[in-house]
Formats: sequence, structure tokens, C-alpha cells
Amino acid sequence: MKPVTTPDEPVALDTAFFVAWITKAAQAIEEHLTRLGELDAAIGDGDHGTNLDRGFAGVLRVLDTTSPRTPATVLALTGTTLISKVGGASGPLYGTAFRRAGNALGDAERIDLPGLAAALEAALAAIRKLGAARDGDKTMVDAFVPAVAALNKAAADAVPLVAALDATVAAAEAGAQATIAMQAVKGRASYLGPRSVGHEDPGAASTVLILTALRDTAREASESGASGEPGVNGD
Ligand code: ADP
Ligand code: MG
Repeated sequence: MKPVTTPDEPVALDTAFFVAWITKAAQAIEEHLTRLGELDAAIGDGDHGTNLDRGFAGVLRVLDTTSPRTPATVLALTGTTLISKVGGASGPLYGTAFRRAGNALGDAERIDLPGLAAALEAALAAIRKLGAARDGDKTMVDAFVPAVAALNKAAADAVPLVAALDATVAAAEAGAQATIAMQAVKGRASYLGPRSVGHEDPGAASTVLILTALRDTAREASESGASGEPGVNGD
């Protein structure tokens, strides 16, 4: 077994950390609701922001009224709630992704960087299996693929957590930007054919937001944990 954290890694990826991540993701989606809607209006039906905001608001209510015991439970609750609350393609896709990521974490109370990378990889596998989108089809997959590759590489190189997630977010952002030049092959945007070119995919944009929330949660925990306190909230 690998150690759960490296000796100089002050951030514990525990249940409180995962709750903080999902809470921050929900805030980011709400903050960017209009932009996500505009991106979806350009090549889809304009509901991506409201879809995800409704789902994440539901997730916050569930997390508020339950006391998840492990990181896996946090992600399972997140996924199940997104599936039940989000109409549209992105609900089952993100919902299943969070559930499968949770499964990958097992029963552990603290997750290490390779564990986090494996969870993100399981999320991508779930999206691919359910949506059958290939790389370059102009979907959330195009942000996820480079992000997973960057996190796997950082984990293999034992890069510290925040730097690893910085690389993950940068890769996701580049992947989302690359969707602008792509023609949509999957989802509603594919109905537009060549007219889908020239617009960023909304699902790729929301993937960037969710991963940025993860990075920012780690950064804040790292800054507040620099005193050597274990855990995000000491539990
Ligand atoms: P809907 O298209 O049903 O209105 P949303 O607007 O909430 O659903 O989500 C649209 C996003 O879902 C797209 O931008 C794309 O990233 C993602 N998406 C759609 N279909 C697929 C698919 N088959 N595989 C992966 N992602 C997909
Ligand atoms: Mg839509």
C-alpha cells in the first residue's frame, strides 16, 4: 500500500475535502450558469447551465442533510442526485461519472493522489461507456481526456497535489478550447453539423469548472493546512 499522503503534503483528501470540492463546484456552476447557457444556446438548446445548477443545488441539499462517511459516499450521493435532478444528456453522464469515481475510491477514508487519478480515470471511462463519444467529437470527453492524462502523469511523477491539479486544470482548459474548432458528432450539437464549428462545447466548459473547483479546494486546504494540521477540518 502506498502512503495516503506524502510527508510534505499537508492536504488530506478526506470526506470533508470531498464535500468542500462538491460545494465549490456547485458554487462555480451557479456563478457561470449564464455562460454555460449561452454556450449551449449557440450549439444546443441553451439549458446546460440551468440543468447543472438544478442538479448541483439538489446535491448541496442532500449533502446538507446527510453525513457521508467516506469520500466515496460523497461522490455516490453527488452522482445519484445529478442523475435524478438533471434533465438532458449531461445529467446521466456526470451522474454516472461521479458514481463510478466513487466506486473507484472504495472504502478509504483518505485518498492519495494516485487514488484521485484512478477515480478521475473511472469517471472518464463511465462517460465514454455511456455516451459513446470518441476523442474529437466535441463533448466533455475532450476536456476530460487531457485532464486525466495530466493527473496520471503528475501522480506517476509524485508531483505535489496542488501542482498536480494545476496541470490537470490547464490540460482541461486547453482541451475545452480545442473543442471550438471541432465539429460535433455526439449530442444535440451534432444536429448543426458544420455549423457547430466555432463554439466551445458547453459540457467541456463545465468539466473545466468542476476540475477547477477541485484544484481550488486543494489550494485552500493546502494554505490553511500549512501549519501542519492534519485534514481539512481536522476530523
Ligand atoms: P442536452 O444536450 O440534452 O440539452 P446538456 O445541455 O445539459 O444536455 O449537456 C450538453 C453537453 O453534454 C454537451 O455539451 C456535451 O459535452 C455533453 N454530451 C452530450 N452528448 C454526449 C455524449 N454522447 N458523450 C459525451 N458527452 C456528451
Ligand atoms: Mg442542452
